[in-house]
Amino acid sequence: MTDSLLIEDGTVLQTGRTPAVLRNHSVCIEGGRITKIAPRREIRKFTGRRIDASGKVVMPGLVNAHNHFYSTFARGLAKAKPAGDFMGVLKHLWWRLDRALTAEDCYYSALVALLDFIRHGTTTIIDHHASPHAVAGSLGAIERAVKETGLRACLCYEVSDRDGARIAKEGLAENVRFLRHCRKQNDACVKALFGLHASFTISDGTLEKAADLGHELGAGFHNHVAEAKGDQDWTLRHGGKRVVERLNKFEILGPRSIAAHCVHVNRREMDLLAETQTAVIHNPQSNLNNAVGIANIIEMKRRGVLVGLGTDAMTANMLEEMRVALWAQHLANDNPSTGFGEVTNALFVANAEIAARNFGLSFGELRAGAAGDLAIFDYDPPTPLDATNLFGHLLFGISQAAAGTTIVGGRVLMENRKLALNLDEARINARARELAKNLWNRI
Ligand SMILES: [Zn+2]
Repeated sequence: MTDSLLIEDGTVLQTGRTPAVLRNHSVCIEGGRITKIAPRREIRKFTGRRIDASGKVVMPGLVNAHNHFYSTFARGLAKAKPAGDFMGVLKHLWWRLDRALTAEDCYYSALVALLDFIRHGTTTIIDHHASPHAVAGSLGAIERAVKETGLRACLCYEVSDRDGARIAKEGLAENVRFLRHCRKQNDACVKALFGLHASFTISDGTLEKAADLGHELGAGFHNHVAEAKGDQDWTLRHGGKRVVERLNKFEILGPRSIAAHCVHVNRREMDLLAETQTAVIHNPQSNLNNAVGIANIIEMKRRGVLVGLGTDAMTANMLEEMRVALWAQHLANDNPSTGFGEVTNALFVANAEIAARNFGLSFGELRAGAAGDLAIFDYDPPTPLDATNLFGHLLFGISQAAAGTTIVGGRVLMENRKLALNLDEARINARARELAKNLWNRI
């Protein structure tokens, strides 16, 4: 996949379960995986490419566990009517935008977003896609963008009945086709889940079909769960179950499955998520923006739920999302000293675990055998930095620094803030602007 790479003399940050700061260490990557981490003098006879990381921090590439590439063209869109609640946000903005997307829009939306992720040291993205009038082949268009940028992405199509039975059927077929394709191609950078929009837009009949098809393929499911109270209200009215109970009945939950948001789940539902080992993804910036509430991730964690962190496409900067997650917990709990362990665990430990479940590689720790996915930040700490205050530096300092170099599987995607890819960013942005303008005219 890649050549050998030696990242020399950096300050290596171990952000996993056992935090550590290793000064003047070098990281050797061969065959896409880390083969050695040691002080420079202990690495001899290296003949591959070298990157100087002196005066910089080297850390595992970041993972975004819930994203929507397709929302790229919403940036600056002023046509959406003000919404009074979350349902209004969906109807006035997102469901108008996604219906107008073409396959080319999907490709450029993904490409622009992927370049932004590279710039922020985010190396793995778990995406949830919708383009109801361009369903067939949409995941293939996004896959093409993923491969051109060299990042890792796990894709799915969000099945929904909101645009009628024919489009729901197309959504089911797109997931099946792409899951089979990923299995066959066995690419270390592209994986698939079975996508579902949300309980309140999926009938029992469609959910049953999705469950049958997903189970047949051994797939996990990626679903929005109890993002707003309306999801619980609708689900209770249609069948008398709460959202997580309904998903459990259809066997949608499980260790490969992702439940995004879970803002409005009760304790019984938290226990079901823990028992089934379903990953919950917290998206604080999106939840604050939509005024839907703040997920009780402290209680979920206490009950044994695996809680990761996503952006819901609000940013490509995972460290910024982690900061907001912390402020949100402070505000929600009326306590400025709560949630630190939960939010840092979500980004650095849980997201690595979720990526590992989907990609079958080890992430989140720089050690021999782990994926060669790294982010190098231009950060020279102005206060003492060690294992005890590493996460404080990440929250307050490194989150404000620039990612200089981003590496996936030993392949350098950006070096010293310059994209190392054979892609013309100005041309991509120019075409994206044209497409966005046309899209805005259609909605
Ligand atoms: Zn979402």
